[in-house]
Amino acid sequence: MASAFSHALVAYAIGQSHRWTVDPQRFWFLTIACSILPDLDVLAFAVGIPYRHVLGHRGLTHSLVFAVVIGIAVVRFGFPHLGLRSRHGWMLVAHFTLVTASHGFLDALTDGGLGVAFFVPFDDERYFFPWTPVKVSPIGVSRFISERGLHVLGSELLWIGIPVGIWLAGMWATRRCSRNKEDQGSVERLQ
Ligand SMILES: [Zn+2]
Repeated sequence: MASAFSHALVAYAIGQSHRWTVDPQRFWFLTIACSILPDLDVLAFAVGIPYRHVLGHRGLTHSLVFAVVIGIAVVRFGFPHLGLRSRHGWMLVAHFTLVTASHGFLDALTDGGLGVAFFVPFDDERYFFPWTPVKVSPIGVSRFISERGLHVLGSELLWIGIPVGIWLAGMWATRRCSRNKEDQGSVERLQ
């Protein structure tokens, strides 16, 4: 896995890419929750399900089908007033699907463990991206703190934190520019 910090950061950047007009507290809570939800499958270790099993770590909960199901369920139950047939509803489904799927994409950039079962239930194969620069994060908080946690965070900062930071800065700068132009336009119209 990549650490929960990186999953949440990427989810935040995805959420910032559009101006949503829903309850912000609920939106952000569900956005961050979806980004870390797939790792609930580490509980499989506790009940003896092997890593390689379809229900094991990086299995079903890291698949694209799971992401779509979660995207639909979150909007259906988290924003019931929107309705799944509205354009806004489907945009939110796409958002929560992408945020959930982003978890597997980040994991597939790490250099350890088994790959990600993106295509379960159609294909049980585990996949990595051809380039895996991110150091894999140890499973469990105590290991994260005591083992190579700092090393992992450094690698995530370099390969995830900095690119996402540049993306966010670019987006905010673009928005600021367009807001300034809008303000200028309305001042000119008033003169
Ligand atoms: Zn994971």
